[in-house]
Amino acid sequence: MVDLVGQYKRIQPEVDKAISDVLESSAFINGPEVKSFAAELATYLGVKHVIPCGNGTDALQIAMMALGFKPGDEVITTSFTYVATAEVIALLKLKPVLVEVNPETFTIDPNEFEKAITPRTVAVVPVHLFGQCADMNEVMRIARKHNLRVIEDTAQAIGANYKMKDGTVVKAGTIGDIGTTSFFPSKNLGCYGDGGAMFTNDEELAKKLKMLANHGQSVQYVFDDIGCNSRLDSIQAAVLRIKLRHLDEYAAARNKAADFYDLAFKNITQLKTPVRNPDSTHVFHQYTLVMNGVDRDKLREHLSSKGVPNMVYYPIPVHLQKAYKHDRYAPGSMPVTEHLCKNVLSLPVHTEMTEEDLNYISSAVLEFVSN
Ligand SMILES: *Cc1c(COP(=O)(O)O)cnc(C)c1O
Repeated sequence: MVDLVGQYKRIQPEVDKAISDVLESSAFINGPEVKSFAAELATYLGVKHVIPCGNGTDALQIAMMALGFKPGDEVITTSFTYVATAEVIALLKLKPVLVEVNPETFTIDPNEFEKAITPRTVAVVPVHLFGQCADMNEVMRIARKHNLRVIEDTAQAIGANYKMKDGTVVKAGTIGDIGTTSFFPSKNLGCYGDGGAMFTNDEELAKKLKMLANHGQSVQYVFDDIGCNSRLDSIQAAVLRIKLRHLDEYAAARNKAADFYDLAFKNITQLKTPVRNPDSTHVFHQYTLVMNGVDRDKLREHLSSKGVPNMVYYPIPVHLQKAYKHDRYAPGSMPVTEHLCKNVLSLPVHTEMTEEDLNYISSAVLEFVSN
């Protein structure tokens, strides 16, 4: 689904030098590369504070720890997401309240979000799924009205722009109280191992996030809080500093591939191409079709037999997973999400795709659906 080798080859001299510089310096943890990367990412995002951490799951967890929720407090998020979003809520003994997504954009349905609010609700976690922002104007309006905190899961949409109601354009992850992201290798801004970060404009929250990611330590060997150990290492930061300079160019390459597919499948009623949220740019972490009367398993078999990678994100919604099953969530309780899980199919969309690749892949799809 991605070509990380091809991507590396194009920046190899820069990356190899940056890694070897870290090796020479031996500043593997909390070295200057980590501070420089955090500062450069903050500038890119137009946010006051970036706090790097170990991975995107930790970022979500530390964000929720910093906001001081109490066991039993309810946190609303969607069922059509990667499990990490719901997992950290449950892990902190908060109650995940899963709601439906908008069938067009796959992001949280603001009406369903508002309907799910109870006196115990403390926060909402909109997920900017597949590379575009949730309906943040509505999410923020509803959250502010009910005095809820907003944590944006930006693991799939780093670099996306969002147009606020007042016309200002901001980056995904900088709208709510805290934004979180992942630098897992296949994410749009990926390192060569694990990594993650949190963003905020709030000075106090930034201090707290930094402290919690470092064992709750305020001054060396002084621990004010129960925290965790979650660090981005210097080698990953050095790689990310280089890749950050290419991030917009990477998003443009992904959009070019997406536009190609859109055009190829334009008149095919059996395939619904991705719908763009008019307030958000799309950075196409995934290019996801919705099948309309196509046997997805057979199409997948056909594609695989032609050597075309394809994936289902996500085959089982969170509310039907064994670990998250609850009386509130009988099968059929979230028809939109369940329909999507049965009918979505993602095609390769990455930074190294050639016109030839795109032709081959789209022809393989069309061969099947127009038969
Ligand atoms: C990848 C991802 C995460 C988790 O990131 P890790 O770095 O793998 O822990 C969280 N949420 C979403 C939506 C993701 O895609």
